[in-house]
Amino acid sequence: MIDPRKLHVLVSGRPAEVSPIAPLPTPEGCVYTPPNADGSRKICGNCTLWAQVDLRCLLHGPLQVDQDMVCGYHVYGEPQEHQDAITLTMQPLTTAQSGLGPVSGGVSCDTCRYFDHGKCIAIADPTTGRAPANVEALGCCARWTALT
Ligand code: SF4
Ligand code: SF4
Repeated sequence: MIDPRKLHVLVSGRPAEVSPIAPLPTPEGCVYTPPNADGSRKICGNCTLWAQVDLRCLLHGPLQVDQDMVCGYHVYGEPQEHQDAITLTMQPLTTAQSGLGPVSGGVSCDTCRYFDHGKCIAIADPTTGRAPANVEALGCCARWTALT
């Protein structure tokens, strides 16, 4: 298959222009998740991938993961008791990949610096391709950034 940028050079004799500014991600592109069913904020202690007896995460292998931490892969649900044999042998996520770190009281859009009255200025509305996008106060995404 012909690379369209090479085709452009063949046709016009100069390289195609590439915008230096990347578009904002949509909610799906930054793993936006709706509020937890019980109205709590997102934290390892209410993530179904957390092994509460072993203090491990099913995605992070040997790293100790405490209740008051969180990462961008949070999945709301009942925590597990133990890390199982499958997750011990899989290639684990690193903290740099997942954003794993300590949080106080969990994370949600209404504690994020990009939240403003039900809107987020850091992600694009899927219908317009531009910010802001509608989000829920207790939703969250991988771009969460603490208020300063
Ligand atoms: S590190 Fe992420 S995926 Fe693992 S238990 Fe915590 S929130 Fe869930
Ligand atoms: S307000 Fe923050 S956590 Fe919520 S969608 Fe926007 S960037 Fe993500």
